[in-house]
Amino acid sequence: MDEVRPGEMEYVTIDHDLATRTAMAAALGLVAAAGNLLGGYFVVRRDWPRQFLQYFLALGAGYMLAVAFLEIIPESIAIAGKEALFYVLAGFFLVHLFEHTLAPHFHFGEETHPEEVSHQRAQNSVMLGLIIHTFFDGVAIASGFLVSTWLGVVIFFAVFLHKLPEGFTVASVFLACGKGKRRAIQAAAALGGATLLGVFLTSLLQSQLRYALPLSGGVTAYVAATDLLPEVNREPNWRMAFLVFFGVASVLIMQHLFHV
Ligand SMILES: [Zn+2]
Ligand SMILES: [Zn+2]
Repeated sequence: MDEVRPGEMEYVTIDHDLATRTAMAAALGLVAAAGNLLGGYFVVRRDWPRQFLQYFLALGAGYMLAVAFLEIIPESIAIAGKEALFYVLAGFFLVHLFEHTLAPHFHFGEETHPEEVSHQRAQNSVMLGLIIHTFFDGVAIASGFLVSTWLGVVIFFAVFLHKLPEGFTVASVFLACGKGKRRAIQAAAALGGATLLGVFLTSLLQSQLRYALPLSGGVTAYVAATDLLPEVNREPNWRMAFLVFFGVASVLIMQHLFHV
């Protein structure tokens, strides 16, 4: 047996662990991307039940905000200090810029205002906004796994819970302006592709974790608070309100059970 110098064994173990976590990020990134595609099919298959997508939005809103505030942002500060909060803010307003400033009309859920998205420019801006947002969904998953398996898994759930509504949203925009089912599904697939690109680039550029993690924390908070919660609040339904709080509680329960 070869002689092991002090420290070498430990290094090998850590490296192996990182390789495993990178593989998990890639695998769960694929699952998230498939969620976008599946969400698109809920639009073109009119006979599929879609009411439950609303419940994903409500559960996702509470869960995502709890993960952003209790996991991603504190971990970002642990890595990069207070400077991380600047990048949280930057991530928050980056999505605001692309989803709601440059895009004249965007909201989560089924697009029911064809007059608003009938112009090619309006569709392109919605697509661009969602591509930026879903890219950071991928950045979030990969950044989480660079820190730990625990953080990667809790962030994956935050992303996955809104992946179906996301694919549903973009496909409905394309259908509302008469683009046809094939184009609608392709649009949902493109969001999955952007998510995978985010996972890939973040895993490749590991040294940028001090920026990637807080940026994706800001994006997560923005998507939950301004894309998902307003949709939840449009439904005067106590079940929806309950699910938001259940989303928050499930993060606290997971922390208590699994995170020592
Ligand atoms: Zn609309
Ligand atoms: Zn997303």
